[in-house]
This record gives sequence, structure tokens and C-alpha cells, in this order.
Amino acid sequence: MNGTGSSFIRRLHITCTDRSTHPRAVITVLDWNRERGPLYYIPTRRDGPWDPPSQDSPNYQFECPRCGRHWQLKPETWERVAKGCITARLADVDLSQLPF
Ligand SMILES: [Zn+2]
Repeated sequence: MNGTGSSFIRRLHITCTDRSTHPRAVITVLDWNRERGPLYYIPTRRDGPWDPPSQDSPNYQFECPRCGRHWQLKPETWERVAKGCITARLADVDLSQLPF
């Protein structure tokens, strides 16, 4: 018995459509586990690169595998947006449609 059923996990696809000019491309997927927090992973080899903050770079970085659009987001900015999407139970967030 444990309290970590699937209802504790919300999945958000981080995508790009270059403002609806190319088909939806997945950059990465975020699973939000209520106990363990955000877990990211790249679901397929063709998906885009992303990096969490590190000592070398303090920002989150996402890059679209389709159009090369690139985002560098401050942790507080990205975490606020991601948490908003998770709370709203969105399955997808299109970074190219957000006012970054
Ligand atoms: Zn794109």
C-alpha cells in the first residue's frame, strides 16, 4: 500500500508549433509527481534538447527539434508557467504561443 497512485502524477508535453506554422513538435515531457516534484524526460530520439538549470547556465533551455526556436527561461518564470499548466490540467503547452 502506498499513496502514490497515478492520480498523483500529471503529464505535460512541452511543445512548439512555431506559432502554428509547423506541426506540433515535442521538446520534452514533464511528469509532475506530487511527492517528487517535476520529472522531465525525452520520450523519443527525435525530440528536442532541453536542459535544466546548472552551474554553467542558470536558466532552463528548450529547443524545438523542428524549427530550432530556442528558449532560455529563468527558473522562476518557467516554474510558474509549468505549475500553472499542471494546475489547469493541460496536457500540452506550446512554448511558441507564450509571451516569453
Ligand atoms: Zn518549432
